[in-house]
Amino acid sequence: MIIMKSGSLSKLSENITLPVVLADVEQAAARIAGRVIRTPLVASAALLRRAGHPVHLKLETRQPIGAFKLRGAMNAILSLDEKARQRGLVTASTGNHGRAVAYAARELGIPATICMSSLVPGNKVEAIRALGAEIRIFGLSQDDAQEEVERLVQSAGLTPIPPFDDVDVVAGQGTIGLEIVADLPDLATVLVPLSGGGLAGGIAVAVKGLRPQARIIGISMERGAAMHAAIAAGEPVAVREEETLADSLGGGIGLANRVTFALCRNLLDGVILLTEDEIIAGLRHAAREEGEVVEGAGAVGIAAILAGKVALSGPTAVIVSGGNIDPKTHRQIVGGAAGWATSAS
Ligand SMILES: *Cc1c(COP(=O)(O)O)cnc(C)c1O
Repeated sequence: MIIMKSGSLSKLSENITLPVVLADVEQAAARIAGRVIRTPLVASAALLRRAGHPVHLKLETRQPIGAFKLRGAMNAILSLDEKARQRGLVTASTGNHGRAVAYAARELGIPATICMSSLVPGNKVEAIRALGAEIRIFGLSQDDAQEEVERLVQSAGLTPIPPFDDVDVVAGQGTIGLEIVADLPDLATVLVPLSGGGLAGGIAVAVKGLRPQARIIGISMERGAAMHAAIAAGEPVAVREEETLADSLGGGIGLANRVTFALCRNLLDGVILLTEDEIIAGLRHAAREEGEVVEGAGAVGIAAILAGKVALSGPTAVIVSGGNIDPKTHRQIVGGAAGWATSAS
C-alpha cells in the first residue's frame, strides 16, 4: 500500500512554516560533529541488479550504539543549557533511544535515568545499565514507565529527552540527509524506516532543502503503522500495537504530536507497508548478500525493494537504521528456520 502525494513540493514552495528547517539540521551537524560517526554510504551490487538503478546503503549500524538514534539524542543534549544538564536526563525507552541517551550522557558526563517496566527483558535492562545509566523499574507497561518519567520531571526536575517528537532530536536525525546529499549528489529517492517520524522527518527536511526533486518514501510494517494511519486520517490516531520483527518501529506517534506529524504529512512522498515475511527477506538479504547484521526495522528499505513495492527512478539511498537484534533470533532467521516464517507472519 502506498500513499502518493502530489502536494509536498507545492507546499514547500508555498512556504508553509514547518517546525524544523534546513538551517536547524545544518546547526545540528556542526554541534554533533566528532561525537557521532559520519557513516559510510556503500553501493550494493546485488540491489543494483534487482532494481535496475544504483542503490546505496547508509550504514547507521556503524554508530557506537548500533543505531542512528545517537544523532538526535546527542544534538538534543548538547542543545540544553548548563542547568538543565546538571539536573540530569530522563527517558523511558528500552530500545535504541534509551541506549542513545545513556551513551551520550556518559560521553558528556551527565547523569541519566532510564525508566522501564518490570516486563522489560533482562538483557535489554543490562545493555542500558552497562552504558552507565541509572535504571528505574516501574509498573507493568511502557505507559507506566512514561508516567514515572513525568513524575521525575515534576518532582526531581530531571530533563526529559523525547524519542522523536522534539525539534532538536529531529534536527539531529536529519544530519543523515546532509551526508547522503554530499556523497550522492544526484540522488532521486531515499527509503527511510518510519515509526514516530523523527528519522524520516529530519531526513526529509535536509534532503528536500538541498534537492527539492528527490522523493522521500517512509516504510513501516503492516502491523501497527502509526504514522501511516495518522497521515491517512489527517490527524494522529490511536493504533493497536502488535508484535513485529521490526520491533524498533512499534509504538504510537502521540495523540498530541507537535513536530513529526506535520513534517511527515507535508514532506513524505509516500508510505509503504510491509508484511513480516517481506521484512524477513530483507533481513536475510542484508546478512547473506551484503554481509551486514541488521535488525528488522533496519531492513525495511531493502525489503521494500526486494518485494517490488517501490518504483525507483534513479540513484537511491536506503537508510539501514540499526543492527540491534538478539543474536540467536538473527541466526534463526538467517539460517531460514521454518519456525520464524510461521511464528512471525
Ligand atoms: C527508532 C528507530 C526507527 C524509527 O525512527 P522514528 O524516528 O521513530 O521514525 C527506525 N529504525 C531503528 C533501528 C530505530 O531504532
